[in-house]
Amino acid sequence: MNLLRCSEGFGESGDRTLQITELKIDNYERAASCVDGEYHGFVAIHSTALGPAIGGTRFWHYENDEAAIKDLLRLARGMTYKNALAGIPFGGGKSIIKRHDQPFDREQLFRAHGRFVETFGGRYITAEDVGTSPADMEFVRMETNHVAGLLGKSGDPSPVTARGVFRALQAAARHRWGTDDVAGRTVALQGCGHVGYYLASNLHQAGARLIASDVDAEKVERVVREFDAVAVAPEEIYGSAADIFSPCALGGIINDQTIPQLKVEVIAGGANNQLLEMRHGDDLHRLGLLYVPDYAANAGGVINGCRELLGWEAPQSAAKVDEIYDTLLDIFRVAEREDIPTYKAADRLAERRLVGTHASGVPLLTLTFI
Ligand code: NAD
Repeated sequence: MNLLRCSEGFGESGDRTLQITELKIDNYERAASCVDGEYHGFVAIHSTALGPAIGGTRFWHYENDEAAIKDLLRLARGMTYKNALAGIPFGGGKSIIKRHDQPFDREQLFRAHGRFVETFGGRYITAEDVGTSPADMEFVRMETNHVAGLLGKSGDPSPVTARGVFRALQAAARHRWGTDDVAGRTVALQGCGHVGYYLASNLHQAGARLIASDVDAEKVERVVREFDAVAVAPEEIYGSAADIFSPCALGGIINDQTIPQLKVEVIAGGANNQLLEMRHGDDLHRLGLLYVPDYAANAGGVINGCRELLGWEAPQSAAKVDEIYDTLLDIFRVAEREDIPTYKAADRLAERRLVGTHASGVPLLTLTFI
């Protein structure tokens, strides 16, 4: 692990002693790995400037530890920025459990993760993410209170995420065409899964026309049937004649191959990490395409988590989701005024919120779990 300075040690969780390796990473509050039987996990806290760090647990296969740590650090930092922009009192963190090909005991694995999370004393709160489910979080909960996304708690976040993406799309429409009204606009939707389906519903109700694609024929057929969408093959979605391209499936889909195909004026969707590399955001700016930074648009999911973590009622979280619209108008204004790509303007706004908190000495939120 050449990029890291490590120190081995042991942590206590309940009556167990865990083998913990501290990873000294510049600009991160804490990062560590833990081995406990067949469990090998990593946790990174990027920032608790705005509150306890929240971020899900990714259960994924990585080639080696370095690849896992690289992903961990990128995701933890991303959570700080997402939460800051969403205006919620949480910092950013993330965890990863390395997946192996051998058979494993799911309960033991996630309980081991819970013991590791517990050693962070509430400065990091985990939840489900790629490869994990609310049932896994119940196992984590057997060892620590610092977990959200439990069965029967905040529920499926995707309708809330989709609502936020719809508001993001309206903000983009206002900035680009002078009106929130998307009636008559054509939206090319990539992915008709959880977020894509609910977004299609919002757009259909608002009078937008839909072109839809999915690798799963049943998913796209449902959107065609219920929302009058026109289906196209997955590889045809990039070149579809539309006003807005809405990526709601995969990351990395804005790249050297897809940018030349785009015929739209606006890109606004719910998928995470849409830009394959940051330079692709610069390309969109140069070409005059309005890119809605993904982590600003898809913050509805973390906002939904505030119901479980902070006891928010539905109207409070709905109002916060609506603020995505205002935040994006700010981002577009900054980008235009300073002639910078929108992804840079979003980062700048998030950083301003983080620095503002330090300067004003806003106290850390403390959460008590019952
Ligand atoms: P999902 O798995 O329910 O839906 C994804 C859909 O994309 C699936 O129907 C899948 O078949 C389809 N798909 C996969 N490859 C495709 C391709 N090449 N072309 C077209 N379609 C393809 O996932 P989701 O929960 O809807 O999340 C979608 C995206 O939004 C992900 O990037 C996720 O990280 C992000 N996101 C989701 C939430 C949420 O609340 N669910 C919150 C924030 C961000």
